[in-house]
Amino acid sequence: MSARPARKRRRTRTTLGIVILLATVLLGWGALSLNRAAFDGKAALQSVERMVSFGPRPPGSEAHRRTQSYITQELEAAGLTVVQDPFTANTPAGPVSMNNIIGRIAGRKERVLMLAAHYDTKVMNDFRFLGANDGGSGTGLLLSLAPVLANLDNDHSIWLVFLDGEEAFEEWSDTDSLYGSRHLVARLAQSGLLSKIGAFVLVDMIGDSSLDIRRDTNSTPWLTDLVWGVARRLGYSRNFSNSSMTILDDHLPFVQAGVPSVVLIDLNYGWGNRFWHTPQDTLDKLSAESFSKVGHVLLEVVAELDRE
Ligand SMILES: [Zn+2]
Repeated sequence: MSARPARKRRRTRTTLGIVILLATVLLGWGALSLNRAAFDGKAALQSVERMVSFGPRPPGSEAHRRTQSYITQELEAAGLTVVQDPFTANTPAGPVSMNNIIGRIAGRKERVLMLAAHYDTKVMNDFRFLGANDGGSGTGLLLSLAPVLANLDNDHSIWLVFLDGEEAFEEWSDTDSLYGSRHLVARLAQSGLLSKIGAFVLVDMIGDSSLDIRRDTNSTPWLTDLVWGVARRLGYSRNFSNSSMTILDDHLPFVQAGVPSVVLIDLNYGWGNRFWHTPQDTLDKLSAESFSKVGHVLLEVVAELDRE
């Protein structure tokens, strides 16, 4: 008889222990989800405002140099390890100095998750092209996510990749476009790092206040399904529609190299995409709410991929 209550007490203690453990795990998850849900797109919008204040930023311009310094400073302030990747691109305008910037957050695993955006603006000779959405929005979003991601305890290493020279100097072609991503893929292949990339997630033109992101037929299907599944669960199906189109962007060199890749892009920027590559691509077309939504999706996508 005397042993039974003792065993019961032990069982009670064990049960209590499990309850406390479960509560801790659940509260921990809750706190993480809360961190993600608490992400506010206002900081991203402010970051774009800052870049736009430098003026048009085609490679070689003073604004382009200032943007590079700004990206570097923001990443360092968030505690990331910053790697510069300078190279010379052979463009129709001759050799042009370019530079990818990579902010690294170390994880426990060798596998790397990449979140990427381009920061250059297209050379426009007859008008002032600020690229608030095109080039600015993806960069602003990743910069504002840097401190959030740096504070999460991820297994995977996370690299925030700021690509140069996405835009064509003249007519878009295989050789006149995607200078930064083509260079980076070649460099990663040389160093043997390419096979360590678990996923490459590209954001471009995601700040439009009327957000309409469609599936891309060039992106990796399972990764696209994962992103759209997350968006649906978060209640953003209106912004992540199930219709698809074919997108040529910085994910292509990664897709071609066999890296699972996806692009999040809204090519319905103004009615009939009329603000794209025009003087109308300005800050007033963007909203913090759109940045919040895409930010929430990215943070949940990282969490899902990190569990694999
Ligand atoms: Zn563009």
